Amino acid sequence: MFDLLKSIFYEISSYFVPEKQIYEITGECKKCGKCCNYMYSIDTYTEKEFKIMQTIFPKYKRFYIKGRDEDGNLIFACKLVTPEGLCSDYKNRLRMCKKYPARFVAYRAQLHEGCGYKVNFKEFKDYLD
Ligand code: SF4
Ligand code: SF4
Repeated sequence: MFDLLKSIFYEISSYFVPEKQIYEITGECKKCGKCCNYMYSIDTYTEKEFKIMQTIFPKYKRFYIKGRDEDGNLIFACKLVTPEGLCSDYKNRLRMCKKYPARFVAYRAQLHEGCGYKVNFKEFKDYLD
């Protein structure tokens, strides 16, 4: 229960807290659909938590649990991606979809293999330079 409350708090606070790191993103989308077919959710560890999350935030009803990775983390996919990898509800896609790949994240970012975008990491020494 505590974990769930924490998840809800993080979900809400993610809209208000200042982001921790800025990445430079270059490239463009190749429309492969990988990011809609394979995604993670920070702080959602169980199917029950996911169902409660969908009840609280109905916009997440478009997602379903696809399986688990080798570390046991839930993998999600979107019901609205077409077999060709395109969004069937492009005009109404979520804010997180519009922002993808995010330039402001609080953790080290990673893109799908073959994604048309590239995340350019900056180390501390780059800022010093
Ligand atoms: S994984 Fe990258 S290239 Fe493929 S659809 Fe998503 S953003 Fe576009
Ligand atoms: S709403 Fe569209 S862009 Fe967003 S995850 Fe689903 S298919 Fe992809």
